[in-house]
Amino acid sequence: DQTINRIAAGEVVERPASVVKELVENSLDADANRISVAVDSGGTEGVRVRDDGVGMDREDLQMAVEEHTTSKISDINDLESGVGTLGFRGEALHTISAVSRLTVRSKPRGGDTGRGSDAPGNDAGTELRVEGGEVTDVRPAGCPEGTVVEVEDLFYNTPARKKFLKTTATEFDHVNTVVTQYALANPEVAISLEHDDREVFATEGRGSLESTVLSVYGREVAESMTRVEHEPDDGPVASVTGLVSHPETTRSARDYLSTFVNDRYVTARVLREAVLDAYGGQLATDRYPFAVLFVDVPPNTVDVNVHPRKMEVRFDDESGVKSAVESAVESALLEQGL
Ligand code: ADP
Ligand code: MG
Repeated sequence: DQTINRIAAGEVVERPASVVKELVENSLDADANRISVAVDSGGTEGVRVRDDGVGMDREDLQMAVEEHTTSKISDINDLESGVGTLGFRGEALHTISAVSRLTVRSKPRGGDTGRGSDAPGNDAGTELRVEGGEVTDVRPAGCPEGTVVEVEDLFYNTPARKKFLKTTATEFDHVNTVVTQYALANPEVAISLEHDDREVFATEGRGSLESTVLSVYGREVAESMTRVEHEPDDGPVASVTGLVSHPETTRSARDYLSTFVNDRYVTARVLREAVLDAYGGQLATDRYPFAVLFVDVPPNTVDVNVHPRKMEVRFDDESGVKSAVESAVESALLEQGL
């Protein structure tokens, strides 16, 4: 039933940042070297993600936006373990299209569709439009190799959902956080973000965390960063690597803490506390440092599926992880004579 689908989709697609997250993830899955994200009015008016990934032909494109009843949550265990990032594996594009007007233009990488050089549409890409979950148009379209997905009028058909959106500034903040995390975690991919036609940042994809931090946070922050390297000596509790800022290079209001557990972006109270504790009394009241930390733990000691939509994790050995992170950051600061 359409209405039920829309309501379900509205629950799963929380806000523009959730759309951005799914589209960027698809671009990374498609082996993109460049990904550009552009949003209007915090993403409430429009989201566009362009990549130079493997692309799709007409058939792929039609399949990509279909409702995959077969791959839908097949039993309650799937739901509880939060498969996929939206909680519906293989359903992100369809789910987003159910609550928006979605346009995808794509062309397979390598240009040759394998159908012979005079087959129709061989050298062109395909454009597909979906509105409220219904495909309204499919046609050949000239476009570069790769894919561009445009999502307009998010929640146009779910007014109750639309009311939950916050101000443009808040929605953009969420979008910025998401794109920043993917940029930091994928330094070998050139990732850019534009808001209302203004460039917010653009990474070069040169592969180093330092150059990515420079692009994302700017020179002042990048120059204040110091390396964190910590290999556990007795027992594999956690290895911790990354960058943390000088205690005087801070911001107020919110923290700029990016933590990745086994390469997946997560939020965990225990990691945040560990970092702030490591700075101890060196931070002024209400000031937060910049930190990008990659924490690796044996996979069987962490539960990454605490919540299907959120990025929370739970560690078997919370205090062990906390002290590993705290001492890693502490010794990095100490080495700087701080
Ligand atoms: P999932 O990513 O879980 O497979 P999605 O609904 O996000 O589900 O995407 C459906 C499919 O569409 C993907 O499996 C992929 O084959 C294709 N697809 C989506 N986005 C892209 C993209 N940017 N480039 C190439 N293929 C894509
Ligand atoms: Mg996906």
